[in-house]
Amino acid sequence: MTLRSNRRDVLKLGAAAGALTGLGGWGLAQDGRGRTQSTPAMEGDEAPTVKRVIFIAMAGGVRTRETFGTPANVPNLQMMADDGVLYPRMRTSNLGHFGATMSIFTGISEARGIRDNARGTDPTMFEYLRKDLGLRQSDVWVTTSGGPQQTNYSYSVHPDYGPKYGANTLDGDGIFNKEFKELLDTYGRPKAMEESEQDLLDKVRRGIGRTEDKAENAAATENAAKVERYILEELTRGTSTLRGANSGDAKALRVARNLVSLFKPKMTGVVLQNADIAHGSFNGYSEVIRRNDEAIGEIWTAVKEDPELADSTAIFVLPEFGRNKDLNSRRGLDHGDGSDDLRYVSGVAWGPGFGKGRVVKDDVRTIDAMYSACDALGASPELAKGQKLKRLLA
Ligand SMILES: [Zn+2]
Repeated sequence: MTLRSNRRDVLKLGAAAGALTGLGGWGLAQDGRGRTQSTPAMEGDEAPTVKRVIFIAMAGGVRTRETFGTPANVPNLQMMADDGVLYPRMRTSNLGHFGATMSIFTGISEARGIRDNARGTDPTMFEYLRKDLGLRQSDVWVTTSGGPQQTNYSYSVHPDYGPKYGANTLDGDGIFNKEFKELLDTYGRPKAMEESEQDLLDKVRRGIGRTEDKAENAAATENAAKVERYILEELTRGTSTLRGANSGDAKALRVARNLVSLFKPKMTGVVLQNADIAHGSFNGYSEVIRRNDEAIGEIWTAVKEDPELADSTAIFVLPEFGRNKDLNSRRGLDHGDGSDDLRYVSGVAWGPGFGKGRVVKDDVRTIDAMYSACDALGASPELAKGQKLKRLLA
């Protein structure tokens, strides 16, 4: 399918999605205070404001040398930097992939309670946004490159935050929220949703959370089924043909692109990981970077071509850490030598009201990005240890 025809479909379906999401997401609980999100009125507001954020953790260990040090690898990120702000000295949290990526979302580099494949104890960006801004779950998403471990980024076990403020999670195969995933694991993944479609949806419908109110339940249940069917078909559109070393990342990025076009969430997080092929193959790693740059470019294009998104969407892209200075004996690149190649990465921020073509040579930190993302949307990550990215605003 060409981009052009895909875009037409996406626009058409976007209208339908808007109608569906307007009914309250999947019938999952709204935030406890029952608030709905609203845009604060500003007096004489002429300045461009950020209404949505796309936040891409280009994780898997990516050095600056293969990104902005080799602009041919990342033409799209370079263009984004030329039209936004580049941070070539972002200090990382070197805790291993999982912990370091987690800290990008929590804004705390010395993370507590981090074990592999478990939820952290520090609230994530998604929880701050939902709690502070009263956002529905359907407004806050994270798409992941795969693996159950990455679903842990969607919320923490912090007593004041936690699952009721979590993000919808979606991986490249279109499987999201845990309770939904369990059902699909039991009944099978509807790759094509053929004749078994209705039967499966009925089963899913019965598994969706209930409230006390019967009428509300019925409406929510029906809405949830519509939305689920819609999501499975549309959000995974185009992912089945994605192959190659970055296929997991490519799917997560494609799903994010579909999501951004269809639902226009307030927050779309993306977690990548395929660059870690670098342990065994420098060439494979470079290929992943090039392909991911292309996919990020497609998201950026989708944003710029959508009048509703173009002037109100900010994008942040940053790795969790870099890689070693020298190749290993397999002509691959590990991570653990403490070099600047490992400890500093390059991140980009692009959006309304942000600087344009600015290179900030000062040291900043990977944990600062979520602080700026929250701040741009009007939330304050009170437990995060980062600060606003220096010289971000125009
Ligand atoms: Zn690794």
